[in-house]
Amino acid sequence: MKVPRKLLSFLKEKDNFFIATHVNPEGDAIGSAVALSMALESQGKKTVVYDRDIVPEVCRFLPGHERFKNSTLDLQPSAFNLILLDCNSLERAGVERLSFKYSAVIDHHETEENFGDIRWVEPEAAATGMMIFYLIKEIGLKITRDIAINLYSAIAVDTGTFRYSNTTAEVLRVGAELIEAGANPAYISNHFYETWAKERFALLIMALNTLEIRDGIAITVVTKGMYKKTGTGSEDTENFSNFPRMMKDIKISAFFREIGNNYWKVSLRSRRDINVARIAALFEGGGHRNASGYKVKASLESAKESLIKVVKSEHRKFSHKP
Ligand code: 5GP
Ligand code: MN
Repeated sequence: MKVPRKLLSFLKEKDNFFIATHVNPEGDAIGSAVALSMALESQGKKTVVYDRDIVPEVCRFLPGHERFKNSTLDLQPSAFNLILLDCNSLERAGVERLSFKYSAVIDHHETEENFGDIRWVEPEAAATGMMIFYLIKEIGLKITRDIAINLYSAIAVDTGTFRYSNTTAEVLRVGAELIEAGANPAYISNHFYETWAKERFALLIMALNTLEIRDGIAITVVTKGMYKKTGTGSEDTENFSNFPRMMKDIKISAFFREIGNNYWKVSLRSRRDINVARIAALFEGGGHRNASGYKVKASLESAKESLIKVVKSEHRKFSHKP
């Protein structure tokens, strides 16, 4: 992976950076942003780390996560240079109303917007955390223990803890180096996967009870009523979309989460040869080949039907074997 010269000189020459990542942030977004902030500040730069949404509870063990700000009220974004991480449009980061001096994008999503004075987009990178790792090394900075914990977590989350098809020898080599620098795999996995509140588990049970399988698509749903019944919130649904993919004959798992009146956020997960980034893009969303998402304004039933229709016609077009 080659870090663009232009990006290196941008980071060297400028002093103030506004690091923003996508809404509903998860491990890769948070770990990458905190690691980059720590690295730049070790060089005497000033950074602000911003997300429109709060850091989910499972990520609050990450050293430095409290750097995240959710409001720009006390800030003057226009005095900063923007670095967009793990996304590549102002809208995905919820900062479309702000203006910045200069902007750089560091991302690994295959659906590209054309935003940014400097763009470093590597769809082949397993995680944005991998890119930040190479960037920090290229600048010549030390991977401290705190940076290692953040980057290891970023990479672990986006590779399904080193299980998905993006887990390469290179990913494991970087992982090993981060362990040597102080990241503890068991401690990190424990925090991500074995610290659920019982309320969250109750919500998962409810979601799994909605399961229906239509044309090879496993559909599950979470409504606002379910949050109320279980005392949970939307951030508690992270990862729910992965569970139905555990079934052998499922092509796609589609998880519908209610975000408004007849308004749904859909998370798609697929097996290797089915590209759900393309399906999400047809609904003006995006993501990766095997994990993507979009929003849709419709009743639940017609939202489900429009997805089934698109999946069927994509199948015909690209003649994937079911
Ligand atoms: P999740 O289903 O976990 O929210 O997201 C899975 C992947 O799809 C992530 O890489 C995320 O960035 C991407 N994604 C989810 N929702 C959207 C969306 O509405 N727009 C775009 N462009 N990408 C999305
Ligand atoms: Mn990512």
